[in-house]
Amino acid sequence: MSRATRAVIDLAALRHNLQISRQAAPNSKQMAIIKAHAYGHGMVRIAQALDEADAFGVAIIEEAIPLREAGISKPILLLEGFNSKQDLNLIRGYKLDCVIHHESQLKILESIEGDPIKVWLKIDSGMHRLGFSPDIANEVYQRLLKCPSVSQPISLMTHLSNADDLADDFTEQQIRTFNEAIGFKNSSNEEIDCSIANSAGIMGWPSSHADWVRPGIMLYGVSPFISQATKQYDLKPVMTLKSELIAVNQYKKGDRIGYGGTWACPEDMPVGVVAIGYGDGYPRHAPSGTPVLVKDRPCQLVGRVSMDMLTIDLRHCSDAKPGDEVILWGKGLPIEKIADLSGTIAYELLCGVTNRVAFEYQDK
Ligand SMILES: *Cc1c(COP(=O)(O)O)cnc(C)c1O
Repeated sequence: MSRATRAVIDLAALRHNLQISRQAAPNSKQMAIIKAHAYGHGMVRIAQALDEADAFGVAIIEEAIPLREAGISKPILLLEGFNSKQDLNLIRGYKLDCVIHHESQLKILESIEGDPIKVWLKIDSGMHRLGFSPDIANEVYQRLLKCPSVSQPISLMTHLSNADDLADDFTEQQIRTFNEAIGFKNSSNEEIDCSIANSAGIMGWPSSHADWVRPGIMLYGVSPFISQATKQYDLKPVMTLKSELIAVNQYKKGDRIGYGGTWACPEDMPVGVVAIGYGDGYPRHAPSGTPVLVKDRPCQLVGRVSMDMLTIDLRHCSDAKPGDEVILWGKGLPIEKIADLSGTIAYELLCGVTNRVAFEYQDK
């Protein structure tokens, strides 16, 4: 019998979440961000389901190629651009668009000829990770205009660093910095597209919407904000991580459970063993007390998470038996809660589901 541990991916919820992004930013085009295996959901399947998106964004060439090979023909933007001259052959061959964020990339573009490539010039409005300084944005733009290997119009973008905190006015400052840096756009004859917003920008900062928005985490049904429930925004969780009980054992008051014996039974009680662990991507740092659902009833993790298993307190589900379903996150149990208790963010948990877990795609 195969292991019951699986990630059920709800493609209808995914499409619903894209609609939420469209409703929030109705005048912007939607570049669905599907890097890192679509945040762990399976990149090609997610791209195929998102045929309403206007373009896709991935981090690296190795992510873009399988999309083209699967027949995805929409624009695909490489959010980190290219690293070497050799990459440009692949970029041309697969018709990929490129972020240009560094002088080293610009020098390569200035040194080549051949079919023009679509580029997005990235300006650093305050995140201080990738991008050209705002004071040289116009100068870089003019250099790109002169490159025969660059197609026109050139698009412009930046990335927000603090938009997940609605109380932090640094976001307004970044938007201002970007808009000032691209002032030259008004004197151009070309229609120049601009993009600022990630999910948090889309949902929380209307002045960041511009021509294109770049929804990532919200497509997967996760709130982009540090302190708000998903429900308020009507996002639906896309991944439900499930497994089942493989043992139910009765222990005595004082018996210690699992590695290190970190948790002791406060009374005689049933403890369930679930067939999932950190080898599947469930966070090892989830503490005793982290919620799980057994047959849709709330129960709690006890003791340390092992590689292949974890243990749960079954006092609230005393009729549970091996084979019963356990939900670790997803429908009825927000992943944000599990991430919070484990000292991380939902992005990391989603990306961390390992390929030992079977993926099952549902489309209603
Ligand atoms: C990952 C990424 C996004 C999406 O961010 P979310 O917070 O997941 O919405 C948007 N833009 C860029 C440049 C990114 O790298």
